[in-house]
Amino acid sequence: MGPRSKQLPECYKQGQFWIHPRHPFFAMDKAAISAGGITPESLYFPDVFVWIPTLLNGDNKLVCKDHKCIRSGGKNKELSIKGFNDNPIARRVITLDSCYYILTQRVECSRKSGGCGKSWNLYDPMIMEQLDPGLAACFPAFLTHRSGVDKTIMTLIRAGMAHSLSSNAWSKILRELHLREHDSRELTYLYAIQKEESKHNFSQLRYQSFVPTKSLSHVRTALEYISKSLEDHGLPQPNLGFTDNVASDDATFVEIFPSLSEGVKAVHLDEFSDLPRMTLPSHIIVPICTTEL
Ligand SMILES: [Zn+2]
Repeated sequence: MGPRSKQLPECYKQGQFWIHPRHPFFAMDKAAISAGGITPESLYFPDVFVWIPTLLNGDNKLVCKDHKCIRSGGKNKELSIKGFNDNPIARRVITLDSCYYILTQRVECSRKSGGCGKSWNLYDPMIMEQLDPGLAACFPAFLTHRSGVDKTIMTLIRAGMAHSLSSNAWSKILRELHLREHDSRELTYLYAIQKEESKHNFSQLRYQSFVPTKSLSHVRTALEYISKSLEDHGLPQPNLGFTDNVASDDATFVEIFPSLSEGVKAVHLDEFSDLPRMTLPSHIIVPICTTEL
């Protein structure tokens, strides 16, 4: 059977080793019109690298290089496809802000045709060295016993080490980037829900007022009006508020909307409150100018 007659995976036909899931935005767009509605499930789909070099290696046959097998059989036995892995189905590889998976098949030196019965993944060094070098170079990761690191990240880590960035620092950097990516997906999910809810909820409460100063006494009336109006319409009190001066507005907001403080753990902005406050020595005179000199 020639390589051209072999059935290629869809991604190979499109000129890609990768299967990319929908971008979070499109995934949520699709979920919104699906029967199940918006669920975060599709945001967890990873990129998958499909590695079946036997379909791309021309007429070159993979053979068993096991020394014992060669000695006993007298020549290199041709390997046959054993199928896809099932435990695990694919290998996880760590990259800059996410993980991707490498999906491959196993090949075996079949006992049925007089072979040694051993089997290998298609990314095993014994297989890789038999592939066309250009094809082998397409493999994107360094695999360890249980995990794997993307080759580009490994290059980045190596370059960072040369500039005194320790492995501990790299671990923290990668963790931060992975968390950020997770948060960004979660935000996409929340935006999608908000968009859906706004479609079903045409009414909104708005109170606008022009006031002479930034004093909270003017804002108070507006907030009390909103609170009462929500109650009158049978709507829940707000659980999220926005103000550009949290420190000064916080107490008034919480007084009018007790719901804002439910389940909220306050963050202490002054993290060095236990240290004494620095004061200017008494002999320093601070001139305060109120008129032009
Ligand atoms: Zn063998």
